[in-house]
Amino acid sequence: MPSPIVHTTLGYIIYRIFRNRVPKDFNRVYLALPLALIIAIGVSILPDIDSIAGILMGDFAKYHNNATHSLFVAVLVATFLAIAIRLIVKSGFWIWFAIGFLGYSLHVLMDYFTFGGRGVMLFWPISLTRYEAPVNLFYGVRWSEGLLNSVHINTLVTELVFVLLVAMAFLIIDKKGTSTNDNKKSLPNSLE
Ligand SMILES: [Zn+2]
Repeated sequence: MPSPIVHTTLGYIIYRIFRNRVPKDFNRVYLALPLALIIAIGVSILPDIDSIAGILMGDFAKYHNNATHSLFVAVLVATFLAIAIRLIVKSGFWIWFAIGFLGYSLHVLMDYFTFGGRGVMLFWPISLTRYEAPVNLFYGVRWSEGLLNSVHINTLVTELVFVLLVAMAFLIIDKKGTSTNDNKKSLPNSLE
């Protein structure tokens, strides 16, 4: 599995896609972050909630990366999120379903595309088979190697490259958006 760095970045990408479509209240800042961003990051790291059981029980391999890493659970979580927000603030259903499903299922798929992982139970509870991608996009965290192993440098470097690429992409998008707005403002009124 990639570390929370990559999953948090995924939450940011989802937030950027949907931030102009969520109700204004969800762009209010809580704990230094817009509420919609907190929700997007929350669902993007939620599948790893099973790490808590692994840490508490002292057996990470046994408890981690099982039922919570299923596409069916992604549908359930997205439905629950969308219904809850709709009931609380009467917001639209599908936008929160999309945020919930993308955040959760893309986390599962990122783990699926991670090198040297144990594979992911993509279709739990229908199948307990662990699926592993033929091509790997992420180096992943090697929990079994212990905390002080140099192998973690590979993980950190590859994940920081991912963060850097995402940051650069959004910088370019933002710059393009600003220059488009500036061009519009500089047009004489008669041409608008
Ligand atoms: Zn995971």
